[in-house]
Amino acid sequence: MIAVEGFRGRNVAVFGLGGSGLATARALVAGGAAVVAWDDGEAARTAASAIEGIEIVSLAEIDWSAVEALILAPGVPLTHPEPHWTVKAAKVAGVPVIGDVELFARERRERSPGSPFVAITGTNGKSTTTALIDHLLRVAGRDSQMGGNIGRAVLSLDDLDAPRTYVIECSSFQIDLAPGIDPTVGILTNLSPDHLDRHGSMEAYAAIKERLVEASQTAVVGVDDELSAGIADLIASEGHRVVRISAAHRLADGVFADGTKVIAATGGVETVVADLSGIGSLRGRHNAQNACAAVAAARALGLDDATIAAGLASFPGLAHRMETVGRKGRVLFVNDSKATNADSTAQALASFDRIYWIAGGKPKAGGITSLGDFFGKIAEAYLIGVSTEEFAATLDGRVPYVKAGTVDAALDLAAAAAAADPAAEPVVLLSPACASYDQFKNFEVRGDHFRGLVQALPGIAIPGGGKP
Ligand code: ADP
Repeated sequence: MIAVEGFRGRNVAVFGLGGSGLATARALVAGGAAVVAWDDGEAARTAASAIEGIEIVSLAEIDWSAVEALILAPGVPLTHPEPHWTVKAAKVAGVPVIGDVELFARERRERSPGSPFVAITGTNGKSTTTALIDHLLRVAGRDSQMGGNIGRAVLSLDDLDAPRTYVIECSSFQIDLAPGIDPTVGILTNLSPDHLDRHGSMEAYAAIKERLVEASQTAVVGVDDELSAGIADLIASEGHRVVRISAAHRLADGVFADGTKVIAATGGVETVVADLSGIGSLRGRHNAQNACAAVAAARALGLDDATIAAGLASFPGLAHRMETVGRKGRVLFVNDSKATNADSTAQALASFDRIYWIAGGKPKAGGITSLGDFFGKIAEAYLIGVSTEEFAATLDGRVPYVKAGTVDAALDLAAAAAAADPAAEPVVLLSPACASYDQFKNFEVRGDHFRGLVQALPGIAIPGGGKP
């Protein structure tokens, strides 16, 4: 745990007692603060009340003038659609409203400025890039701690101890609550409209992400979308150190992907750092962008290219994101359950040539109408969940499909059809382009279920695990 010592002997209010809220409350108590905390859920309050030193009190009843800060969980609205009532009460009393990443940044500055801090944000690719950087650092023998919006809450990571390195995924909500964030390396992968209900406008959303890279010693910025490219230009013109990355075009200065090659360029002089071909966990152009970001960060942290190349090659990838879960003969089975919208599914469809596609669930607006460019690669689609009729209407006359109903039935049909396909590498792909809530608790449970079914198929080879 990273004890938060900056509030020793003072009162701090915490609202939201999920995983990160609980870790925050514990870290504050460990650092000697007096913590009053609340959550609207009774189970969360009960969990927190078991921690010595945390007082569970409705924050509607406290004397805000005696409180030094309100620590808000990132899921609680700070500004939109309207500020949470605790935020309004804090503002009236002039109490700053911050989050756990801000507490971490302050502690690092005070207690361990020699601990490198890598912060990763962007609309897509955050988790993959974060996990990849952590992996590269470990391969290089560095003491790396990964957390934030992925895995462990930032304040539950091992204590600050230079040169221990912190690789922290930051959602826009976490950055919004971290006015003093100052990463050693700050990464912005890309920007596209997302979460606008929570940020009001694209400008506000982009401004939050911009602040992270602007405050970094080294900013790594993807320049494949206009907004991010504009941010790179702006902060470079302000004199900040910027490393541009691209998976779409050559750069004279920066890190870019040319096909599967990752190339670092300085003044037009190019060095091939690695080749991603054959690295299953980094298939697809979107992953080339993530790899470029990770390479730029690793170089900024002093890793050599040979170590970086070895680390890329051994990256196991993240579960549910184009995760290879089995192979049977020529047929590859891929779990992309994290693809809960058409944009994410597009990345997977773009990455394979002959696809037996399991899709559907609780659909998003627009369904799969945007995926028409990929329909030629789909040998057959297997529709599941409440989106079945809507998706069938989109596919009608363009792609053969079966209304399979469930993942179980879909997999049986897809596996049999793919086995009979003479193509070099037919792929059975679960990439639903839908939320999972109609049939599963969440996308993880959906993906775990699919993986379990695949790995129970007779004769299946499991990556890393040999034959069962
Ligand atoms: P995040 O943490 O930002 O949600 P992930 O790394 O978990 O991103 O990837 C989630 C999904 O987003 C992937 O399954 C893929 O479909 C898509 N994706 C990943 N990286 C990128 C990228 N660089 N650009 C566009 N889409 C991406």
